[in-house]
Amino acid sequence: MKDKRETSILIIYTGGTIGMVHDPVTGSLVPIDFQHITDHVPELLKFGFDLRSVSFDPVKDSSNIDPGVWIKMAETIEENYDNYDGFVVLHGTDTMAYSASALSYMLENLRKPVIFTGSQLPIGLLRTDGRENLITAIEIASAKEAGLSLVPEVCIYFDNELTRGNRTTKFSAEHFDAFNSPNYPPLAEVGLHLKYNYNLIRYSDPDKNLVVHKAFDTNVAILKLFPGLGFNLLDALINTKDLKGLIIETFGSGNAPTYPWFIEGLRTFIRKGGIIFNVTQCHGGSVEMGLYETSREMLAAGVVSGKDITSEASVTKLMHLLGVCGTREEVVKCLSRSLAGEIS
Ligand code: ASP
Repeated sequence: MKDKRETSILIIYTGGTIGMVHDPVTGSLVPIDFQHITDHVPELLKFGFDLRSVSFDPVKDSSNIDPGVWIKMAETIEENYDNYDGFVVLHGTDTMAYSASALSYMLENLRKPVIFTGSQLPIGLLRTDGRENLITAIEIASAKEAGLSLVPEVCIYFDNELTRGNRTTKFSAEHFDAFNSPNYPPLAEVGLHLKYNYNLIRYSDPDKNLVVHKAFDTNVAILKLFPGLGFNLLDALINTKDLKGLIIETFGSGNAPTYPWFIEGLRTFIRKGGIIFNVTQCHGGSVEMGLYETSREMLAAGVVSGKDITSEASVTKLMHLLGVCGTREEVVKCLSRSLAGEIS
């Protein structure tokens, strides 16, 4: 068994509300110096762990996080992989589910925890939720049994729930309970005890080494369907220069209008080599193409079912696959299968 001090966790601060305090002079919110995180959260010293941190420079509001920053996060983990037992990524909540999804595809054969967390209120405020989120995320990142990490996945820990990153979505801009995982139960629930749902956690093959995929192709778009959607919008989208993949956020279990111009537009895009991925705009449940007439024609046209994937996990998956796969057929094949537990 390792001595407590031998447990080592790397905190990677990318930006977001959690790392903010009020500047005593101007009164405005400014990022803290993460080297001195224990000044703000002295409880961290009680872990007795080797707790280190790196801070991105500049730190980013998560609205400005893009695939380049995902690559930087993955490289930071890759470079430090052998030296730490787990990683805690501090990130703005707004696009946390996108980054966690992207990292879940990038870090193949991950065998150590990568726990994203953040907060709704800055760590410098009295009522902050950041302190508890950070402390418990560290506890989860360090949890082991028989020398092996309990949760060797990319997860989001927020407000007493640990969820798989690529199953999670932000649903509240107000409540501390800001995230949920509509189609997959939590990997752990936190109350008096930390209860892990072992049978839901993914464990990669111990004989395989970490492989980090660093290519993304951002030539994708999302079209959320709405009653009244016109031909012009679809036509403009499918004729967008270099567009390779289009996600259509459909109604209910994957339904769309049966207007001839709509299905013909999808067919034209597919004939040109484009990929159409059907993802439901419902917050829970799955696409079932062919169930209704309104999706049968899409199935026949070659539209790919997103099953029960979240919007965040779908767009990052499409960008990842377009970046790493050699052929269109390979992208289509991989879209339908689970890469990191993102679909059932
Ligand atoms: N705008 C912030 C961000 O996502 C909000 C937050 O940190 O929760 O970066």
